[in-house]
Amino acid sequence: MDETATAPLSGLESTFADALPELCLVWEAAQVPDPQAVAVNDELAAQLGLDANQLRSTDGVAMLVGNLVPPGATPVAMGYAGHQFGNYSPRLGDGRALLLGELIDPQGARWDVHLKGSGRTPFSRGGDGKATIGPMLREYLVSEAMHALGVPTTRSLAVITTGERIMREGPEPGAVLARVAAGHLRVGTFEYAARLQGDDLLRRLADYAIARHYPHLVDTDRPYLKLLTTVIEAQAALVAQWMLVGFIHGVMNTDNTTISGEGIDYGPCAFMDAYDPATVFSSIDRQGRYAYGNQSAIIGWNLARFAETLVPLLVDEVGGDTDAAVADATTELQLIADRVSLHWTAGMAAKLGLTQRPADDPALFDDLLTAMNADAADWTGTFRRLSEGLVAELPTSDSATSDSATSDSATSDVQRLDQCDVLPAVGDAIAAWLPRWRTALAAEGCKPADVASRMDAVNPLHIPRNHLVAEALDAATDGDIAPYNELLAAVRRPFDADGVDPTYERPAGAGFAARFRTFCGT
Ligand code: AMP
Ligand code: MG
Repeated sequence: MDETATAPLSGLESTFADALPELCLVWEAAQVPDPQAVAVNDELAAQLGLDANQLRSTDGVAMLVGNLVPPGATPVAMGYAGHQFGNYSPRLGDGRALLLGELIDPQGARWDVHLKGSGRTPFSRGGDGKATIGPMLREYLVSEAMHALGVPTTRSLAVITTGERIMREGPEPGAVLARVAAGHLRVGTFEYAARLQGDDLLRRLADYAIARHYPHLVDTDRPYLKLLTTVIEAQAALVAQWMLVGFIHGVMNTDNTTISGEGIDYGPCAFMDAYDPATVFSSIDRQGRYAYGNQSAIIGWNLARFAETLVPLLVDEVGGDTDAAVADATTELQLIADRVSLHWTAGMAAKLGLTQRPADDPALFDDLLTAMNADAADWTGTFRRLSEGLVAELPTSDSATSDSATSDSATSDVQRLDQCDVLPAVGDAIAAWLPRWRTALAAEGCKPADVASRMDAVNPLHIPRNHLVAEALDAATDGDIAPYNELLAAVRRPFDADGVDPTYERPAGAGFAARFRTFCGT
């Protein structure tokens, strides 16, 4: 029998390195003394057609930490440039990461398998090439939460500790994250290719991106303009979804903006408790460039950098007419804010149990935000309080039950929606807004029970709240993984109260958010 055919992670392909050798360097991970699996993602392994027990075997763990190259694989460090906090760096690249190769899942989909924390590479600059257990478990947790929330994201296959002590604030356990993504192409990859030039590199990169992520564009006219439009749409949808779940990425540099539209590199990110558009947690974001409410503008800025790289291709598409090409790209870029807003508005309607923004009260959603800000209302919890308010008003067994509801009682339920008998536990500003919401629900002719269950299907109970994440990561760093595993289980079931400790629903105590800071310290 061929041993290699059954080895964990056998058969990885290298289409990126083959098509774009200028954009990567063949490289191997650093050897580490004592690899131990602290997290292995059974669900993801199954989806990828991998055997999780094999991944947990000595060889599997050695491959996931970089000590053993999977049979046939050619790991590479990917090159990219990027604008970090607005400043251009011509050469960033995988300074502590490697693309092991591409895995084809049982459905035929292609996935990058990537190691983060796997040692120095030629792109490391001053860095040590390493990662520590806290930040790698943090990325694993946030990416799993995003996936469970239905938000496009890279995923995490495993976290393996290395047996090393890595110096950060103090000595910390070293770790490697095995990450899986539809792709690791970034806006920064295009910035890098645009700078290197030569041998039609940019066109080959764009063609690779189209074939890999948007194959329906291959045989269209002006595929490069459509690539821009399609990436804009994917990123607009992503940022809107982040905002709908109260998420702040924290480091939306162009090297962290993917062509696939997946969220990537969950470093100093956080979910907001009390709603405030100015919320920033990252210790390095002193100007608030990547604040919650700035994310829509920033993705526009990042995609303008993407469009700039594509200009030579766009000009060729219109027979050399630079003005026409630039005008077309500019038109697309000017639509970004509207695209984010379209996704956000649809999502906000769903969060409020409505099918759309009410035509006769167009400020309804924005005014809820103003009210939430005034009340310092918990972003996640408020939408649950609203649906609880509806359920609290439902007829009890001595009147109509939902089972025996006739169309008459359904009608009276609808009428009750704008009567506002029982107020949910919300602040004064939100309470003053409630009658407008009830009017909008009544106008759509909704039954309260239906509205509430629709809302509960899209408004999470369990998100990775900062105080819980901090506690779980502190315990894990000290060797106790149990709190982390419990939190992970809770965020994997964001909408489901059953069997989950209700303390996971609660925001942190007063003062925590004001003190809380996240660190890139990676
Ligand atoms: P990130 O903030 O994780 O998106 O990383 C930005 C850039 O810094 C990338 O080029 C990384 O490879 C690099 N980098 C981050 N941490 C390290 C490290 N410990 N050693 C070497 N390079 C690093
Ligand atoms: Mg990055």
